Amino acid sequence: MKAAMLYGVKDLRIEDIEVPEVGLGEVLVRVKAATTCGTDLKIFQRGYVEKIIKLPTVFGHEWAGEVVEVGEGLEWPKKGMRVRAGNSTPCLHCTMCQKGKYNLCENMIWLWGAYAEYIKVPARMVLINMQEIPQHVSYEEAAITEPLACVLHGIEEANMKLGDTVTIIGAGPIGLLHLLTAKKNGAGKIICIDLVENRLNFAKRLGADETINAGKENVVERVRQLTGGYGADVVIEAIGLAATWEQALKLVRKGGTVLEFGGCPLGTEIKVYTEWLHYGEVTVRGAFHATPLHFRKALNLIASRTIDVRPLITRKMKLEEIKEAFEILSTTKSEIKIAVIPR
Ligand SMILES: [Zn+2]
Ligand SMILES: [Zn+2]
Repeated sequence: MKAAMLYGVKDLRIEDIEVPEVGLGEVLVRVKAATTCGTDLKIFQRGYVEKIIKLPTVFGHEWAGEVVEVGEGLEWPKKGMRVRAGNSTPCLHCTMCQKGKYNLCENMIWLWGAYAEYIKVPARMVLINMQEIPQHVSYEEAAITEPLACVLHGIEEANMKLGDTVTIIGAGPIGLLHLLTAKKNGAGKIICIDLVENRLNFAKRLGADETINAGKENVVERVRQLTGGYGADVVIEAIGLAATWEQALKLVRKGGTVLEFGGCPLGTEIKVYTEWLHYGEVTVRGAFHATPLHFRKALNLIASRTIDVRPLITRKMKLEEIKEAFEILSTTKSEIKIAVIPR
C-alpha cells in the first residue's frame, strides 16, 4: 500500500509498504479521508516529543474510513462499516486513568498512519475509541472528530458562562473550532485575533463578532476597548507560542479565565505577575488532548451539525500530493484544513 512516511523535519516520503496484518481484536480500515492538522504541521516543521511519535513513522492522525478486515474475537465492528478511531486510547488502569484523567493516561496508545491507504487499529482502541459514522456524515467531516474532541475538552476547562465575551488568539483550524464551539456554548461576543487578514475574514464568516489584526493594531488596547475597559471573560490561546500565552494573560478581565490551549515548544517558559492571580483572581488553565467521551461527543456534534465543520475543509488533495499539501500549509495560510484522499 502507499503511505506517507515521516523521516525527519520536512522529510516526508510516499513509500510502498506492507498492508498491516490484523491480529486478535484488531481492525483494518481502508482510509477514505485524512485531514491535515496543526500538530502534523508542527511535527513536519520542527519535530516533536519522542514519547508521542518515533521516527521514521507513517504519518497523520485524523482519519475516517471503511472496515475491510476484522480480527478474531470481535463482534463489532462489521466489515464494510464506516468508522473513525483514535488518535489515542487510554489504558483505564494507570493512576491518571483511575483519577478519571483519561487524557493524561500514562500508557496512552497513540495511532499514526492516517496518510495511507490502510490503517490498522489496535485492539484497545477498537474497544475504547472507535465509532461508527452515520451515513449522512462524510468521511472528511468525521476525520475532524479528533481536533473537535480536544477543543470540547478545552472549552469545558475554560469555565465559560452564557453570554461571556470570549477572545480567541489564533484563527487557524483550532482557533476556528474554538470559535464554532464557543458560539454554540452561548458566548455573547467573540473576538478573534490573528496576523493573517484572510483568516480573520474566515473567522467573521464563521460568526466572529470582532476581529483584530495583531500586525496592524494594538491587541491589548483593542480588546479593552471592545470590552468596556475590562478585558474578556474568557481568553483562549490557540497558537502555541510563549509570546501569545503571555499576551492572553493581558487580555482577560479580573476574575476571568485564560485557557492556554496551544502546545508550545518543549522547555518554554512564560512570565506571570503574581498580582494577576492574587489581586486579579485570574484563573489560568491548560488543556491537553481529550478523553474517549469527548471523541464520542465530538462525532455526535458533527453528525447533528450542531457544530458544522464542513467549511473548515478548504481543499482536497491526493495522497501522492501530501508533500505539496504540507508545503502549502507551511508557506501560505490560504488553506484551513486539507482533506487527503488516498484514492
Ligand atoms: Zn489533530
Ligand atoms: Zn491510563
